[in-house]
Amino acid sequence: MLKEIEVKTSSRVEVVDITSQVERALRESGVKEGLLCLYVPHTTAGVFINENADPSVKKDIIKELNKLIPFEDGYSHLEGNAAAHIKSSLVGASECIPVEEGRLLLGTWQGIYFGEFDGPRRRRILIKVVEG
Ligand code: ZN
Repeated sequence: MLKEIEVKTSSRVEVVDITSQVERALRESGVKEGLLCLYVPHTTAGVFINENADPSVKKDIIKELNKLIPFEDGYSHLEGNAAAHIKSSLVGASECIPVEEGRLLLGTWQGIYFGEFDGPRRRRILIKVVEG
């Protein structure tokens, strides 16, 4: 079965910890052994896994992404959000995490993050849990 998480962002570029929402979706699925796949059906957002212990890590990620891919750089894309498309491509639109004994096998310091690159918006994240 397919599950869906909704995230409402409030900034142009924002990183949102969605770990607890993903864990809830896993519990609701009832799957104990398998693979959880997350997918972001958007072209200017992404999903990634990184440290969730120190909040300054996500600040640094946003700062460096904005430095690497400036909002204006003579892009061809006329919609004005080329930087967001590039960030989305770099970060990626999906992640898969192994599930054992009903738990995500995340490392001690890992969390799951939704990356907003053209906000603020209302976004969807699709989750499929595959038993096996
Ligand atoms: Zn665009």
